[in-house]
Amino acid sequence: MKLTSFWTDDYPRPDDLQVVEELPSDTKVAIIGGGYTGLSAARTLAKSGVSVTVLESETIGWGASSRNAGITGCSLKQKSHKIFKIYGEEYGHMFWEISLDALELIKELVYEEGIDCDWHQNGDMCVYYKPSHYEENPEWKHWHKDTLDHELELVAPEDLRSVIGSNAYYGGLIDEHGADLHPAKLVFGMAEVAAKYGALLCENAAVTRIDKQANGYLVHTDRGSIQADHVVVATNGYTDGVVRGLRSRVIPVGSYSIVTEPLSEEIQQEISPRGLTFWDSKWFLNYFRLTPDGRMLWGGRNNLSTTLDLVGSAEILRKEMVRAFPQLRDIPVTHSWSGQLGLTFDLMPHIGTIDGIYYALGNCGHGLHTAIYLGREVAQLITGEKVSSPFEEIPHKSYFFYRKRAWFMPFAVMFYRIRDWLS
Ligand SMILES: Cc1cc2nc3c(=O)[nH]c(=O)nc-3n(C[C@H](O)[C@H](O)[C@H](O)COP(=O)(O)OP(=O)(O)OC[C@H]3O[C@@H](n4cnc5c(N)ncnc54)[C@H](O)[C@@H]3O)c2cc1C
Repeated sequence: MKLTSFWTDDYPRPDDLQVVEELPSDTKVAIIGGGYTGLSAARTLAKSGVSVTVLESETIGWGASSRNAGITGCSLKQKSHKIFKIYGEEYGHMFWEISLDALELIKELVYEEGIDCDWHQNGDMCVYYKPSHYEENPEWKHWHKDTLDHELELVAPEDLRSVIGSNAYYGGLIDEHGADLHPAKLVFGMAEVAAKYGALLCENAAVTRIDKQANGYLVHTDRGSIQADHVVVATNGYTDGVVRGLRSRVIPVGSYSIVTEPLSEEIQQEISPRGLTFWDSKWFLNYFRLTPDGRMLWGGRNNLSTTLDLVGSAEILRKEMVRAFPQLRDIPVTHSWSGQLGLTFDLMPHIGTIDGIYYALGNCGHGLHTAIYLGREVAQLITGEKVSSPFEEIPHKSYFFYRKRAWFMPFAVMFYRIRDWLS
């Protein structure tokens, strides 16, 4: 079993990716982080003729953007009805429309920029882990129709086998907007597109300090310093202490995945006859899908820690997978890997500024479409194409008890495990 991401094993960073050898002395915008957010911002800025340099401490796409499950769809991590409750109707509708726009933005990358990333829009499904979860959900379906004019398909427990080859669940809810893709092909494709428009991509350039100056910022990296008018921090679950006060607004959380060997056509057809992707209704959810080459990818947040042993984590994930799909009992697991999500206290992504330095982060595990959207949005704020963003307008909470170390996570884990057990 390899302890590296299946996606970059399948599709490594292209050798001919245009990266710069020398850090330029100045740039209009310096972007910290070379994942979906940073590259999306770089594409938007470079396309508008703004000089932009992406500073990535490892290699382009090294973070969550090449390690995720490649499952995307409508809505944000925070449930839509809660968004309506917390921020009111106007913002509720705005965030819903944004989530649809964010999906369209991925399609723009696929169809207009020509990024070949195995995009399929066959729908996604939330499968109910307990009978009580199913019972709540006709209401949920009607709320979507009445409030958002959005159709969802409720599947009763007795009809489940027509959409998933498992007896472990109690019905489910299908959203036909759901889609899947190859995350590494997407992130490297985005890097190629940004470079094509003139963005400079700089790898192995960890930003270590930012000095505010009279006319901008001096950004210090492992590879020298660069003068910038604007700085954008796009580091999500890998946010460090470079910008004071930012670390306390985002909590790094681990997410773990395995894939099996490719499955026979027959088993693939049995597992997902309609080509849907899945996640379950627990707080400690599992997500799963078939990969483009027909493997089962099974993932979850075993306990939110970022440092679990990948062999032990694979064993936990394999047991859960076999419980749901006993037909996979004898299929070997070939890869086990992890990556870091950026969680916020309100489960919402945020754009903001600290000392004039922009940040765009906090995708809470739902970041495929939102990260790409946030990147474009922060770039449009810089160019003046937009004067405000709802992600900037809502409060970005931090609490006195969290500065650098999320010591409270084990308690949060216990709390949510009890909720899963009681629900
Ligand atoms: C295992 C896993 C599964 C997931 N599955 C899904 C999914 O199915 N669907 C979905 O919507 N979302 C999913 N996500 C979440 C999604 O991948 C992220 O929200 C998204 O990739 C965030 O993109 P980003 O560009 O903001 O951050 P990242 O891709 O994490 O990039 C941040 C980058 O910043 C760099 N960096 C950090 N500090 C510095 C510094 N000081 N200087 C320079 N560079 C720095 C890091 O090296 C890193 O490359 C998953 C995440 C994980 C980990």
